[in-house]
Amino acid sequence: MADRTSGTAVCPGSYDPVTLGHIDIITRTAVVFDKVVVGVVDQPVRKQKTLFTAEQRVAFIEGELEGLDNVTVKSFHNLLVEFARENGARTIVKGLRAISDFEYEFEMNQLNRKMAPDIESTYLMAAPQYSFLSSSGVKELAMFGGDLTGLVPPQVASRLKEALER
Ligand code: ADP
Repeated sequence: MADRTSGTAVCPGSYDPVTLGHIDIITRTAVVFDKVVVGVVDQPVRKQKTLFTAEQRVAFIEGELEGLDNVTVKSFHNLLVEFARENGARTIVKGLRAISDFEYEFEMNQLNRKMAPDIESTYLMAAPQYSFLSSSGVKELAMFGGDLTGLVPPQVASRLKEALER
C-alpha cells in the first residue's frame, strides 16, 4: 500500500476563552498531522451566549501559536463536517477530559458519522494537569477573583479580568 500522509485535521470548539488544556490538544495534534485548522464555533448552540466574540476568541488562540507554523485558526458557522470538508480535512480531533465529555462526544460522533462517513473523529486524552480544566470553570473562577495562573495564557487572564469587571 502506498504511504499516506496524515493530512489535515480540524480541532473544533467554542474556545470561550482558550485554556492551556486546549493549547495542549492543538499542539499535540500539530505534531501528528501535516496541517491543523482550529475551528472556532461562531455561535455555539448548546451553550449560552459567549463572553468573547468569535474574532476575539480567534485572536487569543493565534496569540499562543508561536512556533506552530502548520496551524491556522478560523471561525465557522456551518456544520462541523462541512467546515472540515471545506478545509480539506478528513479528521476531526477532540480532547477528552474525565468521563463527563464521553457521553456528549459519543452522541456527536454518531451524528457526524451519519452525515459524513468519510470524515473520521479521533480523540486525544487530556493531559492529567488539564483534566478538570474547562472554559466555563475558568470564567467562574475569574468572576470571583481566582488565580488563573497555569490555567489560561497570561494575556487571556488579563482580558478575562477586564471583561468580567465590566
Ligand atoms: P469547553 O468545554 O472548555 O468549553 P470547548 O467546547 O471549547 O471547551 O472544547 C473544544 C475541545 O477541546 C473539545 O474537544 C473539548 O473536549 C476539548 N477540551 C476542552 N478543555 C480541555 C482540556 N482541559 N483538556 C483537553 N481537552 C479539552
